[in-house]
Amino acid sequence: MKDLTRVVHHPEVSHEGFASLSVPTYRASTIVFEDAAAYTNRKYRGPDGYTYGLHGTPTTKTLEAQLTELEQGVRTVIVPSGQAGITVVLLTVLRPGDKVLIPDNAYPPVRGFCVNFLAPRGIGHAVYDPAIGGGIADLIDETVKLVWVESPGSTTMEFCDIPAIVAAAKAKGVLTGCDNTWATPLLFKPIVHGVDFSMEALTKYVGGHSDILLGSITVNEVPLHRALKDTTRMLGMGVSPDDCDRALRGIETMGVRLAHMGRVSTDFARRLVGLPGVERVLHPALPACPGHEYWKRDFAGCSGVFSVVLNPETEPQLEDALSAMKTFAIGASWGGTRSLVAPMSVKSERVVNAWSEEGTILRISVGLEDPADLWEDLEKLFRDLMPGVSKVA
Ligand SMILES: *Cc1c(COP(=O)(O)O)cnc(C)c1O
Repeated sequence: MKDLTRVVHHPEVSHEGFASLSVPTYRASTIVFEDAAAYTNRKYRGPDGYTYGLHGTPTTKTLEAQLTELEQGVRTVIVPSGQAGITVVLLTVLRPGDKVLIPDNAYPPVRGFCVNFLAPRGIGHAVYDPAIGGGIADLIDETVKLVWVESPGSTTMEFCDIPAIVAAAKAKGVLTGCDNTWATPLLFKPIVHGVDFSMEALTKYVGGHSDILLGSITVNEVPLHRALKDTTRMLGMGVSPDDCDRALRGIETMGVRLAHMGRVSTDFARRLVGLPGVERVLHPALPACPGHEYWKRDFAGCSGVFSVVLNPETEPQLEDALSAMKTFAIGASWGGTRSLVAPMSVKSERVVNAWSEEGTILRISVGLEDPADLWEDLEKLFRDLMPGVSKVA
């Protein structure tokens, strides 16, 4: 073998005795075949086999298998973002003339996708009240092929009665999908509750360090997996093994991170109730949280994201007060090590049940900083928001 050939042939080294605890990062576009017949027959390897790097490597499949086990499903597909996790499910299930039902508090880009992408292609949607429960049956006509749920809903933290919605959908032979990003499979397992597609933005708690974008879809039936893989293959959608490697690292610490964040968020939620400037605290551990009873019945705990509805009197001070925060950073996305605040307004987004409160909704994501520093920052925020009012709590 001459040098120019040698430089493109990596020598085989022994793996014997090498028992690392970490998952190797396998990168690939080309996958080579042992002979010409194997190449010709590659399409018979099916969605679980290796044919091309875009369709999976041992690294991506390890992450898929781990999420499948945690979700108690049968297969998982990893996609480039949480939003892709949603759109791939919708594109897989829906055909022109079909309709999807989405909750009024869905992650906003879901509605954007329905309005701006699906509608011009002849696929309809209808929006339902997240408190609808079994009443969803009345909205399921012949054209409805998928019911999408998100519990708790983005920003407003309303929990819905997933078992009731799933039962109504199943009775009419309609598939269901659930955005499980807030809970992760550690706190809620949609598949166990009969949901067909459990989707999660791995970007958030699985990644855990604000440095990757990935999504996952877990299913309870092999044919659904095949259908999802058909969609990602047609769209030319794959993921980087390096990002999956970060997710595999993140998932190892997700349990302790979530437990800590859940404890701190619950403590903060309780202490924020009654603070001047706070109209309402939207946290599942508080009985006043819409759908508290469903959270208590179906979920194993809280994560670190919750919201506070601010008194409208805070509005003139809000921008300066947020900008003056020291430990919390201002930003969307969440689930990383840094605590975040994000001022949100949902008034213009609600179409079924109007949002009556005027004040800004402050979404809080608890990170891993010392809780004392975080609380000091929150106390200062509310002092700045309500100058001249002394603390009552
Ligand atoms: C962030 C988020 C998504 C989208 O995830 P990306 O990876 O940012 O695309 C979807 N649903 C929920 C509830 C989210 O919080």
